[in-house]
Amino acid sequence: MIVRWKDNIVEIGAGRPVVIQSMTNTDTADVESSTKQVLELAQAGSELVRLTVNTPAAAKAIAEIRRRLDEAGCFVPLVGDFHYNGHKLLNEYPECAEALSKYRINPGNVGKGDKQEENFRTMIELAKKYDKPVRIGVNWGSLDQDLLARMMSENQKLENPLDAKEVLREALVRSAVENADRAVELGMKPSQVAISAKVSGVKDLIAVYRELEARCAYPLHLGLTEAGMGLKGTVSTTAALSVLLLENIGDTIRVSLTPEPGQSRTAEVELACEILQALGMRNFTPQVVSCPGCGRTTSCLFQELAKETQDFIKLRMPDWRKHNPGVENMNVAVMGCVVNGPGESRHANIGISLPGSGEAPVSPVFIDGKKWGSLKGPKMSEEFHSLIEEYVQK
Ligand code: SF4
Repeated sequence: MIVRWKDNIVEIGAGRPVVIQSMTNTDTADVESSTKQVLELAQAGSELVRLTVNTPAAAKAIAEIRRRLDEAGCFVPLVGDFHYNGHKLLNEYPECAEALSKYRINPGNVGKGDKQEENFRTMIELAKKYDKPVRIGVNWGSLDQDLLARMMSENQKLENPLDAKEVLREALVRSAVENADRAVELGMKPSQVAISAKVSGVKDLIAVYRELEARCAYPLHLGLTEAGMGLKGTVSTTAALSVLLLENIGDTIRVSLTPEPGQSRTAEVELACEILQALGMRNFTPQVVSCPGCGRTTSCLFQELAKETQDFIKLRMPDWRKHNPGVENMNVAVMGCVVNGPGESRHANIGISLPGSGEAPVSPVFIDGKKWGSLKGPKMSEEFHSLIEEYVQK
């Protein structure tokens, strides 16, 4: 699948690197806030940004948001999220239809009975007219209720009926695949149709996506919906996505965390980047390897140095990204004592091993596997960061 805005082409599926998506939580009609948030998400690493398009005011705002992003030099493709009235909004606001790079269609929310078929067809016709790819995005919170009722009743007639959750999972898969097939029958190229079928349970998500992978060849957008807040949301998302990604299931991902009050929306993009980097699928920033510390650590110094090093890298990354391509593949180690310190530091591009209890009060530094020398004293952090900077510049 190709999703593009001007010269920014995002390729999805067919073995290409997994793409990171995110979604704004501003009122789309509020052009200023929405533009600002799209910029923040794109800067954090989101390669596609989805906005809800739920009202005429939101549809009108899309073209202006796009214009302002272009003016700011941000060409991240925008995805329109439609429910209930997408067929009308795309029809009545051609500038919106044009400014979006992809349409998300939820088949459970396009209308009932005959209207469902008609509205779905209208959206697909408009996607063809404007040459935009679509995602058939099913969600178990808004599953097509007619389909589910039909499947529940068919299930009851079986000799060995499935349990209700299995029927629900089957309905999700069927809704996604059948509607994607329908879009193709209506003239969409199969490569321009992606699928998602999101649920909020880790095991359910894994089961649903394994089934999708087995039953169709459409690019799959992956995400644990309504993952929740804080540690719970982070762990559940990581657990679900990691299992699937390691089975090569998933072409794009979105992390759906409920932000804690005051937490930036970009946290979901940062987590998505961390997951892909931890799985060795994509690198976004140099990794800092650090030990947890234990009874051999004599002070908080190594924890402070690990944190300061992480912060230093984050601060320098925008500039390095521009001028030092490949820097994201680098590893830095900050270790607490001689037990694993020198060994781990030798595996890193650049590493430092702080003194544990009973060791000489110096911190040996290793560069590319060889001992470079030692650092000590109050300027150790600054000096270590200068070594990292020199390494990157070389
Ligand atoms: Fe403890 Fe040393 Fe291992 Fe760190 S490297 S956890 S300080 S033994």
